[in-house]
Amino acid sequence: MESINIFGTDYKIILEPSNSNNPKIQACNGYVELYSKEIHLLEVMADEKSYNDLDLFKRKVLLHELFHAIFHECGLSEYANDEVLVEFLALQINKIIKLVNIANSM
Ligand SMILES: [Zn+2]
Repeated sequence: MESINIFGTDYKIILEPSNSNNPKIQACNGYVELYSKEIHLLEVMADEKSYNDLDLFKRKVLLHELFHAIFHECGLSEYANDEVLVEFLALQINKIIKLVNIANSM
């Protein structure tokens, strides 16, 4: 089982099979347990209905859950519960990192 350290706190990353009977994962592609420090990710399998770039989608879901946890660990619970902000960061963080790298090289 993998784990990831989020600002000093280890979170377990738990992959849930698509036939999991965990009711929490059945309604989403991932979720974070902020108090037991677990990130649950659905193991989405490629099929005719899945995204063409499934790996990119899975990384986006992981980033989404990471941002929930990051804000929680910082004590910013309102931001941790803000799905729009969390999704924005999950989708844009790689572009933001590129801008930071450009700024750092100036
Ligand atoms: Zn979310």
